[in-house]
Amino acid sequence: METSTMKMKIEKAKTSKIHEVDFDNLAFGTVFTDHMLICKFKNGAWEQPEIVPYQPITLDPSAKIFHYGQSIFEGMKGYKDANDDIWLFRPMDNCKRLNISAKRMAIPELPEAYFIDGLKELIRLDKDWIPKKQGSSLYIRPFIFASGNGFHASPADEYTFVIACAPSGAYFSGKVKVLIEENYSRSANGGVGYAKAGGNYAGQFYPTQLAIDKGYNQVIWTDDNTHEYIEEAGSMNIFVRINDTLITAPTSDRILDGITRKSILEIAKDEGIHTEVRKITVTEVVEAAKSGTLKEMFGAGTAAVISPIVTFGYRNEDYDLPEIQDGYATRLKKRITDIQYNRSEDKFGWRLKVS
Ligand SMILES: *Cc1c(COP(=O)(O)O)cnc(C)c1O
Repeated sequence: METSTMKMKIEKAKTSKIHEVDFDNLAFGTVFTDHMLICKFKNGAWEQPEIVPYQPITLDPSAKIFHYGQSIFEGMKGYKDANDDIWLFRPMDNCKRLNISAKRMAIPELPEAYFIDGLKELIRLDKDWIPKKQGSSLYIRPFIFASGNGFHASPADEYTFVIACAPSGAYFSGKVKVLIEENYSRSANGGVGYAKAGGNYAGQFYPTQLAIDKGYNQVIWTDDNTHEYIEEAGSMNIFVRINDTLITAPTSDRILDGITRKSILEIAKDEGIHTEVRKITVTEVVEAAKSGTLKEMFGAGTAAVISPIVTFGYRNEDYDLPEIQDGYATRLKKRITDIQYNRSEDKFGWRLKVS
């Protein structure tokens, strides 16, 4: 990585907004730090990133992001430990995944040093914004969009990479009720489901709202072809525990390769939990619920880490999950967050200190 050659221009905010923020009542992703990183792709190359005061971005009405949706993002967190040291969790994986998404959406790939060194510099500058309260963190949103102009339906010639950060409180998902979806699909074979592309989310909003109208919180996506295999829980990967086996669907064109998912798989193995990465049928889950062998279901993703499901709906029938003390969800969430917040040894080498 060409870390030493990177000279980053930093324009500091004249005044800080930090004193206006109520850190005890942070809604997710609504308050932003004093600075942001911005980096442009022009004339066939990425320019040097710069750090500037957090501010709006001006675009031409013909900017291709508005018309053709070339836009990708990442979601990650910065954590502060008891000694005020700052940590990132597997940030190279986010960087690599951003470039996997970029390739699929015909967006030029970003040099890794711009992402990692730029991010570290930004976090150093805004370190006072990282909340320390239990479960709180700095939510980090790197994204790239087509800022080049023109109505022609083709990839843009200019792009903008931004990293914006939002302090966030502990995320309690509450009692999550999900609906197994059989009509709409999140993704398809040969499609863009494995990319963190903005449009994937736009496509989820309407079917999710229909589920909310029926009293559920989220949709369980099934495969687009047969709707017989469960694939993801909203914008999270899904885990199912049948008896003492923890099962998750294999990643594919249709399923996003979540960093939380793969970390959970490794930690579960380390805990001696039997794991299986294989296709899970709806029938199997319904049968397990009926026979009492379905013990747990949960979503896994950066924002909530693990989001336990209490009820799932399928074909006008609701199935309740049992209430389990010290289940896999609780155990695995503790293990992963202890690593993230530097409360335990990091035997997997996942933490990166921002110093
Ligand atoms: C981001 C995302 C996930 C979770 O990925 P993490 O790296 O664990 O945050 C899962 N599914 C979808 C569709 C996503 O967009």
